[in-house]
Amino acid sequence: MPVIEYKCPNCGSGMVFDSETGTLSCPSCGRKDDIENMSDPIETNVFTEDEAKEYHCTSCGAVIMTDAETAATSCSFCGSAVVLGDRLTGKLAPAKVIPFSISKEEAMQAFKKWCKNGLLTPSGFMTADRIKGITGIYVPFWLYDLHNKVEVFAHGTRVRTYTRGEYQYTETKHYDIYRKIRLNYVKVPIDASEKMNDELMDKLEPFPYEQLKNFKTPYLAGYIAEKYSYDGQQLFPRSKEKIKGYIDAYISSAVSGYTTVSYTNKQIDTTMKKADYVLLPVWMVHYDYNKAEHTFAMNGQTGKVVGKPPISRAKVAGWFAGISGVSFLSLKLISWMMGGGFW
Ligand SMILES: [Zn+2]
Ligand SMILES: [Zn+2]
Repeated sequence: MPVIEYKCPNCGSGMVFDSETGTLSCPSCGRKDDIENMSDPIETNVFTEDEAKEYHCTSCGAVIMTDAETAATSCSFCGSAVVLGDRLTGKLAPAKVIPFSISKEEAMQAFKKWCKNGLLTPSGFMTADRIKGITGIYVPFWLYDLHNKVEVFAHGTRVRTYTRGEYQYTETKHYDIYRKIRLNYVKVPIDASEKMNDELMDKLEPFPYEQLKNFKTPYLAGYIAEKYSYDGQQLFPRSKEKIKGYIDAYISSAVSGYTTVSYTNKQIDTTMKKADYVLLPVWMVHYDYNKAEHTFAMNGQTGKVVGKPPISRAKVAGWFAGISGVSFLSLKLISWMMGGGFW
């Protein structure tokens, strides 16, 4: 059963995941089914060469157009929500999912509000309906549990100046510093989809991990889901890179009280205790402005918006002419102009 559709047992309409109630719900008759206690209809023996396989919509029979990475989508002919079950089984089976809690309407409202609060978005940015599309996507992530053995060797000094009689003395004491630290990090998220901008995805954090549910396919009904492009082993280096700053900060805090510290050797041995495959909810908004497309993303659980709004040259000039005294704003402006990335 590679194509899964959820037909309402009452009226036969297609059911979709409802972010407000967290249930599988029927838009026609209002039936709501609890997902957590549902048994999943996926069989695990459907493995074949899925790249070449054709999927047919069980409602209208049309061929479902997807690329090889998609695990849930909607039929482009009749709009039925379909889940491609064989792309979610075996080693492609997610362990957990954070379901959407923000509806499409709420995402749209929050996005518009966010744009209006943006100081430098050009006038006209929000006047026309330029939103080209808004899509709820379950983005594949690996959540890493990482154990670190850290050994640090450093040379430290403490300098003291004092006066005796007519002389001023400077006393420098030298120390050999050694620290052995064990640091464990849990649920370090790394985006596993090739299509998603890593920086954009990082900025969407934090995701509320207490909302993680055991994975069930009905959570995907009505949304797009991607399967991972890179496995947990392949992204392990990125997870190590991500915690490096935290480890360094911890080391600094553990070596305090010296006037100077110079590290002679830092050894960080990171072990991957586990990597869980999870799907996390993201609203993607594609926005058309000045013939260019802009992408915004919103955390589908917390509503946090990230993206790079378009900058109007006219307004930039206006800021400099009118409010040049406001250095805080100028600084902010400069960091944007230098391509300060997403905020
Ligand atoms: Zn119904
Ligand atoms: Zn169809």
